[in-house]
Amino acid sequence: MAAANERNERLKVIVVGAGLGGCAAALAMHHAGFEVVVYEKIKRFLRLGDSLGLGENALRLLQRWGLHDQLIKIGNKSENMQIRRWQDGKILAVQPLMDMAGYIGHRGDYHDAFLQRVRECGIPIHMGHKVVQFDENKPSIILEDGREIEADVIIGADGIKSLARELVLGFHDAPKSSGYACFRAYFKGEPLKSVPECQSLIQKDCVNIWIGEDKHLVQNTLRDGEEFNWIITHKDTADIKESWFQPGDMDEVRRLVADLDRTIASAVEVTESCLDWKICYRDPLPTWVSRSHKIALLGDSCHAHLPTSAQGASQATESAAVLAVCLKLAGKDNIPLATRVYEKLRFDRVRQSQLNGEDVRDRWHNILKKVNADQEIDPDDVKIKNRWLYPYDAEADTYARWDEMSKIVREELASGNIRPLFDPKTGPVRNLVEYDAFGRPKSSQRNIAIDPPAPQVVVNS
Ligand SMILES: Cc1cc2nc3c(=O)[nH]c(=O)nc-3n(C[C@H](O)[C@H](O)[C@H](O)COP(=O)(O)OP(=O)(O)OC[C@H]3O[C@@H](n4cnc5c(N)ncnc54)[C@H](O)[C@@H]3O)c2cc1C
Repeated sequence: MAAANERNERLKVIVVGAGLGGCAAALAMHHAGFEVVVYEKIKRFLRLGDSLGLGENALRLLQRWGLHDQLIKIGNKSENMQIRRWQDGKILAVQPLMDMAGYIGHRGDYHDAFLQRVRECGIPIHMGHKVVQFDENKPSIILEDGREIEADVIIGADGIKSLARELVLGFHDAPKSSGYACFRAYFKGEPLKSVPECQSLIQKDCVNIWIGEDKHLVQNTLRDGEEFNWIITHKDTADIKESWFQPGDMDEVRRLVADLDRTIASAVEVTESCLDWKICYRDPLPTWVSRSHKIALLGDSCHAHLPTSAQGASQATESAAVLAVCLKLAGKDNIPLATRVYEKLRFDRVRQSQLNGEDVRDRWHNILKKVNADQEIDPDDVKIKNRWLYPYDAEADTYARWDEMSKIVREELASGNIRPLFDPKTGPVRNLVEYDAFGRPKSSQRNIAIDPPAPQVVVNS
């Protein structure tokens, strides 16, 4: 089936944005044999952000595109993480790190590895090239200097403040407050060596989470204590400025940790500075594809995740794989079929991955309200339930479900009646597809070639 639909002519793809999502898209398109070029508005990337998780679901795809061992080296080497009580650090549950976020490393280091691989593949990245407009029919992008560049399909991987999303939706999709914000700090572990209370946290790689009423703290120690990161999520409805760079008020942070277990509070208190991220929220979009069907969104531009989902970059990678396979199967003359199948194949899984993040945040923030200090908590009630996400093979699933989904889409395209993915009043337009423990859609009877469920764990020797 695939061979019959593949074309010899090379499809030309423009990717807007060279974040992790844009790089994954570039690699997936290159792997599929397409001509791909990336436009990025930033002139030079710095080591930005802090901890970011990459799950086995993403690594499986990235490995096929030539990126694996370099990513594993970046990730945290701890086998387990501990979920603890806010006030005293009592361990409430122990869980393999692989069940939570997969490999947690510095976002900037992962980004660097992604960019390097894109360059090794000979994919041009035009840095310092801001896209200011799209022509969805040609389709083309228009750069700040007025130049216009055409392609067969354009991928808007331009992040949470996406311009491509405005084109697709036809309006500015303003962020809403999620009711929470994060204070985040990532720094060299050296100053912590003179803080006696936190010594157990800086000897080797480890991850701990302290949960309290309406707040939690994630701590990540990397490179055997050389680097240290804490992220405090807390109630905040003050404003909804969406920024990765807003400085945080350390006095407010110190007030927040006044009743926190001293092991970690002592490390927070000596931290010099932090960032204040308002966690913004958007309803799921009714579509990820422009009316011409030739511009498709990918990554944070259409499916940003809460930090507690630990899947933002991994789901962007899956989306890249699915879109590449769809374009390959549909062929150069059938881009609308490809992009519309892509959004339909992706929506349910992405939505459930986003909801996972809300579920765990709400369980962590509420459980201690329901019990007395001396009452035992069932560890299952505080565990992160991400494991089902990891065995999934996005490419195999796309091949397996292509016939079924492309039939639906062909009918929709013929009638001109494209069903929206989501209606803010009623929710998902179809019932969400459920996935089994192997990451397979439960409704699908097909035999999808998916690896066994247990993800690989790298243990510190
Ligand atoms: C600075 C920063 C720090 C982050 N830190 C963390 C973190 O610590 N932990 C975590 O889990 N997640 C973090 N994230 C989010 C995480 O990187 C994403 O969820 C995930 O990688 C998917 O990203 P993306 O490529 O879809 O979007 P992004 O990473 O936002 O990338 C979008 C890219 O598009 C570019 N762009 C935007 N508009 C245009 C335009 N008009 N023309 C050309 N280029 C454009 C941007 O400059 C950017 O490079 C961070 C994101 C950013 C931008």
